[in-house]
Amino acid sequence: MWFMTEERELMRNVAREFVEQEVLPVSLEMDMKEEYPLQLFRRAGELGLIGVVYPEEFGGLGGDWITKLLITEELSKGYPTLNIAIGAHSSLAGGALNLLGSTEQKHKYLTPAVKGEQILALASTEAAGCFNMGEFQSRAVLDGDEWVINGSKIFITNIGVADTYIVTARTADHYDHVTRKGFSMFLVEKGTPGLELGKFENKLGWHGSNTGPVYFKNCRVPKENLLGPLHDSVGAFALSACDEYMSCGAVGLGIAEACYDRALAYTKERMQQGKSMYEAHQVIRHKFARMDTEIECLRALSFSTAAIRDTGTYPLALARMCKTKGYETAMLCANEAVQLFGGLGVVRETGVERFLRDARLLGIAGGAIEALFDQINMFKDNNMEFLVRQVQS
Ligand SMILES: Cc1cc2nc3c(=O)[nH]c(=O)nc-3n(C[C@H](O)[C@H](O)[C@H](O)COP(=O)(O)OP(=O)(O)OC[C@H]3O[C@@H](n4cnc5c(N)ncnc54)[C@H](O)[C@@H]3O)c2cc1C
Repeated sequence: MWFMTEERELMRNVAREFVEQEVLPVSLEMDMKEEYPLQLFRRAGELGLIGVVYPEEFGGLGGDWITKLLITEELSKGYPTLNIAIGAHSSLAGGALNLLGSTEQKHKYLTPAVKGEQILALASTEAAGCFNMGEFQSRAVLDGDEWVINGSKIFITNIGVADTYIVTARTADHYDHVTRKGFSMFLVEKGTPGLELGKFENKLGWHGSNTGPVYFKNCRVPKENLLGPLHDSVGAFALSACDEYMSCGAVGLGIAEACYDRALAYTKERMQQGKSMYEAHQVIRHKFARMDTEIECLRALSFSTAAIRDTGTYPLALARMCKTKGYETAMLCANEAVQLFGGLGVVRETGVERFLRDARLLGIAGGAIEALFDQINMFKDNNMEFLVRQVQS
């Protein structure tokens, strides 16, 4: 592969061994019990798999996005849910913290997060709809030396285990759709009076990655818990989402490859009409050729996008394509794998159907596919680079 180097291969192998030795032996059971993968999360942090792209000053490896995607791909082959928990923590919440945080805030919150010692959650979505920010109800008002936050968020990943919630709330009178100004971000530590958690959702997939509502009822945080500039956090959110969408492509890649490998091994062993299923039916060999083609298209898109990201720019449209293509490829391969396993494909203990359930959520959580297609057009048609400049200045 054009993007492989000795260093990247080393990190990929660390992730691969971790998956083989520590993740795969427990992932099916954890999916069935819907258990949060806390121990695996911490272990991934210890191995340097969470904070690879973060600066060494804050406990990261100062590595690149290609390496990050290689790790994400490997982890998703074993347990996509683990990656979802890590992604919400490190790309969505950690990304915003890294972009907007002061040095002091980063030492306090980012360093333990990068090492997997503390968990972050990003609380943005409201009942009005994930991207319908103009209708969001959460407000933060300065009262003396404290911000008072009121409102509620839904579908928040890592609730219950998160040590710190990064919360978006409107601080200006109006949200300006052109300049994207009006919202600010706040760091809210668990246990803060007025921060309340709702019941975890019982989901189709991503079992064990806690998801649920978070309520803020006159929740007071110190003035210094404002993260980044006042009224101006939407740009940073768009950039950390860019990194998350790029990573979602690699989640899809891992799911697709896991399904391809399992289905191939099964069809080569399963005997039908005196031959292996694979040998007996050309139509089945065609399925693998099609899956292979889609997997290689996704790999090419994902790693070329990461290579662009590694030049320091934000590939806003391409990253969203990574997520949409990741979803489609994961769905194709997981669906085919369930089909090829026949009756066994729908039995949970076989360990294949969980990939189909996890793939399905990729099409909604973090941004529905249709909304991302809208954004691809927006980022291609309009010059949204002003957001990048705004955040980086
Ligand atoms: C498991 C899970 C984990 C999540 N984790 C987090 C988290 O950690 N933090 C957080 O803040 N949020 C989180 N979310 C929220 C998530 O990002 C939103 O659920 C998602 O973006 C969809 O938004 P919505 O639920 O508001 O649906 P809506 O915006 O109401 O969309 C419903 C449907 O409308 C259609 N649609 C939407 N927009 C368009 C469009 N532009 N064009 C055409 N059709 C469209 C799509 O079919 C879409 O599925 C999570 C959600 C889930 C399910």
